[in-house]
Amino acid sequence: MAVSGQKQRPVRGDISLKKTSENGILKEGICCVIREAGDCMLDYSFSLGVAVSTLLICAVNLIYTFIQGRTDKVQNKIFITILCILTVNAMTGMISGIYGSNPVLNEYTPHVFKISRYAYFVTHTALCPMFFYYISNVSFVSTHLVSTKVRLLSIPFLLTEILALTNPLTNMVWTVDEDYAFHREWGEIAIYIAALFYYVLSFMILTSSWKVLSVKRRNALVFFFVLVAVGVIIQLVEKSIKVEVLAEAVGFTGVMMSVENEDDRIDFGMGFYNRAALNLDIGSSLKHNRRLGIIVIRINNYEIIDRLVGNGETNVISDILSDYLQSIVKRYDIYVPGKNIFVLTLYDKLPERVEQIADEMEKRFEYTWEYKNFSIQLNTTIMVADIPKQIRTTSELFYMLESPIPEDKDKGVLKGDDLNFIMRRRLVEDAISRGFADKSYEVYYQPTHYLDGRLHGAEALIRMHDRELGNLYPDEFIPVAEQTGLVDDIDEFVLEEVCRFIKTGVPEKYGIDNINVNLSVIQCMRPGFVESVNQIVERYGVSKKLINFEITETIAASDYMRLSEIIRKLKSEGFLFSMDDYGTGYSNVSAVFSLDLDVVKIDKSILWGAETSELGMAILENTIRMIRQMKKKILVEGVETAEQISLLTKLGVDYLQGFYFSRPVPEADFIKYLSVKKSEKSQKK
Ligand code: C2E
Ligand code: CA
Ligand code: CA
Repeated sequence: MAVSGQKQRPVRGDISLKKTSENGILKEGICCVIREAGDCMLDYSFSLGVAVSTLLICAVNLIYTFIQGRTDKVQNKIFITILCILTVNAMTGMISGIYGSNPVLNEYTPHVFKISRYAYFVTHTALCPMFFYYISNVSFVSTHLVSTKVRLLSIPFLLTEILALTNPLTNMVWTVDEDYAFHREWGEIAIYIAALFYYVLSFMILTSSWKVLSVKRRNALVFFFVLVAVGVIIQLVEKSIKVEVLAEAVGFTGVMMSVENEDDRIDFGMGFYNRAALNLDIGSSLKHNRRLGIIVIRINNYEIIDRLVGNGETNVISDILSDYLQSIVKRYDIYVPGKNIFVLTLYDKLPERVEQIADEMEKRFEYTWEYKNFSIQLNTTIMVADIPKQIRTTSELFYMLESPIPEDKDKGVLKGDDLNFIMRRRLVEDAISRGFADKSYEVYYQPTHYLDGRLHGAEALIRMHDRELGNLYPDEFIPVAEQTGLVDDIDEFVLEEVCRFIKTGVPEKYGIDNINVNLSVIQCMRPGFVESVNQIVERYGVSKKLINFEITETIAASDYMRLSEIIRKLKSEGFLFSMDDYGTGYSNVSAVFSLDLDVVKIDKSILWGAETSELGMAILENTIRMIRQMKKKILVEGVETAEQISLLTKLGVDYLQGFYFSRPVPEADFIKYLSVKKSEKSQKK
């Protein structure tokens, strides 16, 4: 690829070919060998050595690529083409080396040289464009070489390739004069300008795809870019050191090991691309505005099938569906982001066609599948979405893959308006982001009482009044905030508000023991959490024992050690702790009770369940008995009726919370509530 500025004059170490004249006197090119025999011989043998090494590297890469069977994707095909180009270049380099160091010329030599030069230019002209296609492919700018953008960008390549191909007729790229001296013509400059164009373009794609390429891929591609630049510069500065093609071959070995090798992208149990690959690939497509259709298949009865026919090693569902899915799309268009979820990507297909394919799939799923003498019925939810029209971020995609499907939408293929729940999530996400600037968050308070009706404390509950969506409840926006990482700010806001409220002195004046603040478990596991909580509370200078943190028991057992440590630290500072929603999770009871808790809050569903069945009653009774034995205080939430209060009085709990006393209300209303309770109390006296 090195540009030769010199024209008309053979350059030392370049392919300078001269024929012995009839009288046997060597002319210019070979004179060079004679005049500077040592040097030139060295140049040629060096070139030969470099060319042989390059050829070996290319051969090994090619063999390895075929052995690994990495040949089916467009990306693989371009990679193989590049290796073939480099192989041809290495061979032409060898020919130059062999003839240059053994200037024993015979009548065929000029022809061999000419053919070799021709092969070199025809193939080398394609190298940079091919690399551009490769990197476009890897970064999902275009996974098929058919888009208009790619066609337009191919024009310089086509023009220069025509130049190289037609050179024997036009002599525009290179010529060999009557003395068999090799000359570079203007066409070569055009080829190098085109090469530079593709090199820069590829580099731009790499930088724009930076965030959506895995670190491994990035490193390999940067390695390649640097090696090529170094190779070209060396060859430009010192023409006799022909290392450019070698540098490219070595660079591509790195690419082969890191980009073509997809071990980190493949789910071995399933044989398809994994969750991380889906995230990166869809992220890249979104980044480059690629339009595609996706079909999502969720197998709802996965667990039971796995238990019935699985052997614990392979994934049954993948075994059953592998061939079928591959009859619809190519292997590399299938992703398994979860054990029971398959995602098919369909690039460059009309949305109607994608929907039609999904409808056909749905029909197929009405029938059973034969597997190891079993007839298996798969219960599926199929969704079709258009990216980027319906799905605009990867977090929306994962939401679509994993969120519960609204109950009225569990029939047929979900498409179009059926996916509005994703749209709603996007709106909620936007509302959360503008929430602080818009001051749309507000803390409500719901009182808690002793069994005898005396006031005990309050729970702080967040509300959102959005200018577009109206009032939003935490059950809807807290899960979204947790996924997008904004829950920290919300919880911090609530804690600050509570501190500010306590600081007014009102809660203490009315005899409130403590105010409960909900914590997202994700948040309290974060490094520096204890310090940040301390900082906030100390800034307001309020007593820590007035704050009672609530956490839910839906936490992985493996994290108990850490959580337990965080609770210990905060308790040593003086804060109180409650276990929220007790009875709804599936966690290990003994692990829950190993935590140093002050209060266990029994979930409202347990209370309500006690009223509808004997079994429910037994569960409530036993839950209360057990917590008693663990010597923790008990709060029951969801108290709505006087009957429930008498039941709970009989069973013996400590505190009550529920609509019977008050719904969660704004601070001002809560203060009114407190003063009413206080005057009722003094009247009773
Ligand atoms: P939670 O902590 O279990 O809060 C109690 C929920 O039960 C509240 O719903 C409350 O309004 C409701 N509730 C209380 N008494 C009754 C009753 O007698 N009947 C009925 N039907 N409902 C009752 P809310 O305020 O919508 O909060 C829902 C959940 O959102 C909370 O459940 C909590 O998990 C979460 N949340 C609320 N505020 C925050 C916050 O500041 N931070 C975090 N991380 N989560 C919060
Ligand atoms: Ca709570
Ligand atoms: Ca609760």
